[in-house]
Formats: sequence, structure tokens, C-alpha cells
Amino acid sequence: MGMGLKKAAGIAVRSLTPNRPYHVQWFITRKCNYRCKGCNVWQEQDTEELTTEEIKRGLDILRELGVMEIVLSGGNPLLREDIEEIIKYASRFFITTIYDNGSMAAKKIDALRNADLVAISIDSLDPRKNDYVKGVKGSWKKAIQAVEKLHKEGIHVSVTPTISQFNLYEIVDFTKYFSKKGIPLWYCLYSYDTSEDAGQLFRIGKKNDEFMITDRKAMVKLCDSLINMRKKYSNILITNEILEAVKNLYLTGQRTWKCRALQNFFVIDHLGRVAGCHLHKSVASIFNLPKVWKSKKMDATRRIYSECTQCTYLCYIFYSLHGSVPGNLRIAKEHWRNAKLFLKRNSP
Ligand code: SF4
Ligand code: SF4
Repeated sequence: MGMGLKKAAGIAVRSLTPNRPYHVQWFITRKCNYRCKGCNVWQEQDTEELTTEEIKRGLDILRELGVMEIVLSGGNPLLREDIEEIIKYASRFFITTIYDNGSMAAKKIDALRNADLVAISIDSLDPRKNDYVKGVKGSWKKAIQAVEKLHKEGIHVSVTPTISQFNLYEIVDFTKYFSKKGIPLWYCLYSYDTSEDAGQLFRIGKKNDEFMITDRKAMVKLCDSLINMRKKYSNILITNEILEAVKNLYLTGQRTWKCRALQNFFVIDHLGRVAGCHLHKSVASIFNLPKVWKSKKMDATRRIYSECTQCTYLCYIFYSLHGSVPGNLRIAKEHWRNAKLFLKRNSP
């Protein structure tokens, strides 16, 4: 596990260069073995996907573009048979995070050793509630076992609940539970796709009344609690900036950030199509992205996205808020121990 100095150095250099995309979320497969309530990826699976070689070629392109962090997700990325090779290749150059719904990680230990962070999704401390959200019996037990196994093996594993009305009141206890065990927490925020863009890259979820956060006061309180808890538990990986921004959104309905889709970040689907985020249409294929990245047309699209307020997916908020050079340095400092050592040693 962990990051070599050479990789940390490369990342630090890329993080200091402005006007580059820093984060990419690559949905490398559309296959999924779960049936989550808030998600329709599993209802629209696709057996077609890029080959191993194509993914590697794409990763080379991302590196040349200056990307420093990559999140491999899906569907369930661990369902790809070549996942070990992909993680190994990606993690040489990028801070590499991989998502799992809890079903596969324990079986793929060797593949995961090279990842910088494995994010396992668990939505409740109550097995029945978690299994209900996941649509699969026994998913809670499996996920917990996976987290414990990876943690024991020294793999940097985090637990990642999706905060929604369904689990809003237990997130503080949930956070305490895993913090006390020394397991990092990362969060998602329930959001859904509004289909304003007919050519939307792909759909993740429709509006679901059970999950829609209606108790805004409780959400504000949760943000405050997490800000407080971060003083005590260093493994709560979400930043105060994000918590303040989300708090303000629920308090006032106003956004304190502009979306930086296609600027700081973009997404790639399982077929190699690139979009600012999954709610908008494809603007290029990964293979011709370098040619069009700096085009006028792309700039016009960026301007439109910077005014967009269609979603509250937490990862997109995170990438928008932490896309500046100091923001990137802070991410590196807060999240990745070796990078932290490296930056400490080398900061002016
Ligand atoms: S949320 Fe993730 S694990 Fe659940 S069905 Fe959708 S893609 Fe699969
Ligand atoms: S706010 Fe940003 S991430 Fe969300 S739909 Fe709009 S462009 Fe996409």
C-alpha cells in the first residue's frame, strides 16, 4: 500500500499547474451485481466496455493532460476481470480510489493492494436497513467483513455512506462507530438526475421520496456535528470547506461554489465517452480529448456548466471546491499520508 516518493512527486508537480483537469471519475464498467434502490445503473447494464489496452491508453492520455486523481467506479469496477491490471497501471501515476458495494473487495485483496483508497459503501449500522437500500440480503455483513479484512491487511479502506433522509439521523453514530475502529469515512450525498439534457451520458438515479432530504435543519446540524467531530477524529476525510458549503446550501438554498465540470474534473463512461458530469452529454471520446480540450467550443460548454445547479452529488461539489492549486495541495495533505510526508519535506 501507499505511495512511492516518485509518484507523490509527480502528483505534487501536476497539482501545482493551473488550468488542468485534476480529477477524473471513470465508470469503467456498466455491470453491477447489486440492486440499489436509489440507482438505476443495474437496470441499464451493458456488457460492452473498453478493453484493458484501451483503458491503459486512456490513462496515458489523462496523465498527459495533467490529471492527478482518478476514481474507478461503475457499476462495480471489481467485476472486471482485468481490474488488478488496471489498478496497478493507474496507481503508478494517479492517486487511485476504487469503489465497491462491499461484495467484491474481500475476494480481490491482491488487486486492491495498489489502490490508494478503497471506498466501500455501507449505508447504515442496521443490517436490515442497509440490505434494504442495496436490494440484496446479506450485503451488510459482507461489506463489514470486507472492511475488516482490508483494514487488517493494511489496505487503505474507507466506509462510504450515502447520506439521505433514510439514514440522516444515524450518520453521527455511524461516523463514531467507524472512527473508533480507526477506519476512515468518506461520504456521498443522495442526489438524483434531473433529465434536462436529453443526451445525458448515463443515468444514475431518479427522484426517490424515501431518500430525499426533507429535514433540512437536521442536515445543517449534521454538518456542524461532522465539523466538530473532525477535530477529534482525523479519519473523517470530508473537508470543512465541503461541510460548510453543504450546510449553507441547506440553510439558505444558495450555492457558495460554481460547478467546475469540464474544468477541474470530468467523467468517462465504460465506452470511453467523456462528459463534464454524467448528467450532461458526451463532448469527446477519451482518445480525441487532447485535441479538443482547449477548443473554443469546450470553453463555451464550461461557461454553461459553471452556472449549472442541477445536482448535489457530493463528489462533484468536492471536485468543484477543491480544484484550485491550494485546494489540491490540501487534499493531498489531508488524505494521503505519504503525500503529506512528501509535501512537508518539500514545501517552501
Ligand atoms: S449504487 Fe452502485 S452498487 Fe448500487 S446498483 Fe448502483 S452501481 Fe450497483
Ligand atoms: S451542477 Fe455540475 S456536476 Fe451537477 S449537473 Fe450541473 S454541471 Fe453537472
